[in-house]
Amino acid sequence: MSNPQAIDMSGTAAPLLREEAFSSTEVLGAGEREALRARIKSLLKAQDAVLVAHYYTSPDLQILADETGGYVSDSLDMARFGKEHSASTLVVAGVRFMGETAKILTPEKRVLMPELEATCSLDLGCPADEFAAFCDQHPDRTVVVYANTSAAVKARADWVVTSSIAVDVIRHLHARGEKILWGPDKHLGQYLRDETGADMVLWNGSCIVHEEFKGVELESLKRQYPGAVVLVHPESPASVVQQADVVGSTSQLLHAVQTMEADTFIVATDNGIFHKMREAAPNKTLLEAPTAGKSATCVSCAHCPWMAMNGLRSLADCLENGSNEIFVDSQVADAARVSLGRMMDFAKQRQQAVLGDA
Ligand code: SF4
Repeated sequence: MSNPQAIDMSGTAAPLLREEAFSSTEVLGAGEREALRARIKSLLKAQDAVLVAHYYTSPDLQILADETGGYVSDSLDMARFGKEHSASTLVVAGVRFMGETAKILTPEKRVLMPELEATCSLDLGCPADEFAAFCDQHPDRTVVVYANTSAAVKARADWVVTSSIAVDVIRHLHARGEKILWGPDKHLGQYLRDETGADMVLWNGSCIVHEEFKGVELESLKRQYPGAVVLVHPESPASVVQQADVVGSTSQLLHAVQTMEADTFIVATDNGIFHKMREAAPNKTLLEAPTAGKSATCVSCAHCPWMAMNGLRSLADCLENGSNEIFVDSQVADAARVSLGRMMDFAKQRQQAVLGDA
């Protein structure tokens, strides 16, 4: 496996991300919070808009989405909900590629986002032109990309997959004798290769949140809580994935907390998911899997800095001003719809959910 276009995510970008992103996290007093919530509710009605929020956004946004007939889920399910909903405007609280996916699947609707600068290290680390050059070096391979990519990268791919359906799609392609080019998450790619035995070359991208979960510290936490079930998102490093009782997408990990009998769970994914996990299983004990720790060098400390940029103020502003609208070039959208459509048809044929991403 070699990747000449490899992006080094441990370079100088890290301190910049922390400063930029965390400084945007809003702090609200109770009065301002209530005033903003009321303003947003009235704007949603007036603008025929519905709010869809990702599991990793703040509880403020998740609660508001639930209260106003919107939806909280992972990216593809957010887009699907938006497509099926009658509202003419979708407000997508999440990161950039989620707004793009919503627009690709629902081109007739207006898609707004509270924060256009909210992106994703997987998307940033996989520029479309460099990825296309990588694909051109491997013309014999089927190009499969993760949902956490730009519209242009999706347009270059044969398939787009989410984390919950990725194993099945890769297994299916492997059984057909196809060799795979995978991007952008190297940890998820490694997991898929291990699970399926497929011949895969991997792009060298990673999620800055999941990459920080630590295998050795997790071993030690497991010793302290011997009865705990370990839930791991497959964007995490292999040393963490190998210790999991359940490896799955955000929706699959949430389902595990709801349905498994254990009373203690160690969770290796963004801690934004804890809001829904606590709601679903209020009597269970949820522990964050260890990261480098706040006193060390971790950038995210188990919370995505870009997801944290979404707030009530920016949500109210985008609705009021109609700002931060998402546009996707129509040719790019048409091509991306084909690769997304392959996954959706595959899931439909197998009557399988395609929920799941970062
Ligand atoms: S948690 Fe990771 S994969 Fe998800 S949006 Fe943030 S950087 Fe991207």
